[in-house]
Amino acid sequence: MQIGLITLFPEMFAGLSEYGVSGRAIAAGLVHLRCWNPRDFTEDRHRTVDDRPFGGGPGMLMKTGPLLAAIEAAKTGLAGKGEDGKRDEPPPVLYLSPQGQPLQQTGVAELAARPSMILLCGRYQGIDERVIEEVVDEEWSVGDFVLSGGEPAALALLDALIRLQPGALGDAESARQDSFSGGLLHWPEYTRPQSFNGREVPPVLLSGDHEAIRRWRLQQSLAATWRKRPDLLDKAVLNEEQQSMLQEIKGEGEGKA
Ligand code: SAM
Repeated sequence: MQIGLITLFPEMFAGLSEYGVSGRAIAAGLVHLRCWNPRDFTEDRHRTVDDRPFGGGPGMLMKTGPLLAAIEAAKTGLAGKGEDGKRDEPPPVLYLSPQGQPLQQTGVAELAARPSMILLCGRYQGIDERVIEEVVDEEWSVGDFVLSGGEPAALALLDALIRLQPGALGDAESARQDSFSGGLLHWPEYTRPQSFNGREVPPVLLSGDHEAIRRWRLQQSLAATWRKRPDLLDKAVLNEEQQSMLQEIKGEGEGKA
């Protein structure tokens, strides 16, 4: 996967290639990251990338010129040649924005399957609207809150995308079991010691009975989702076993209440 980053702070992305899953995936060539800095595309002495908004008001905006030039350079730099020797379609430009489509695991999985993309990180009060009209294909938000720049949002998205690349995780099954992947939250997990501050590991996990463990985990997953994120259950497509377990969990919950 080829990813271009349009950012005033390329240094912020260095950590991705240095640590953990993303570091190993980048070292193995599963993902290629390349930054283009709009400041490198300025033509004035002060290398100006921002300006005041028309109509007044606080803050500054990223100017059109350097931003568009950086995006064009990224498109040219990333567009490879297909088997017929012709240039591939240029990668789509995704603007990280609080006004974008909220990022969820289904969206991450869909983005992770793409061959390339350009992530545009805004700064200041954001970017000139005409850049969005002209070159932005999609807008994605990491949540209903405002960051001071698109870089932390891009870092979160990149980390989530990279771990879904085939070969990035030691065991691909672990991503399939993660929260949200099957529409539910993950079940509770335990490791050694078996007894900790008087709290014991649930005996079923020590039983070696794979079917009993599977049922316990499913039941715990449903219970955690119902307790912590009941909104997910409205969208989840549950099979018969899951539906009947959920009814039991709800019944027990109502009994306790
Ligand atoms: N004035 C903008 C608004 O209210 O919609 C917010 C601009 S914000 C201070 C600066 C940049 O941070 C944005 O251009 C965007 O790239 C990024 N950003 C802020 N919050 C974000 C979020 N929740 N998701 C993705 N990007 C975000």
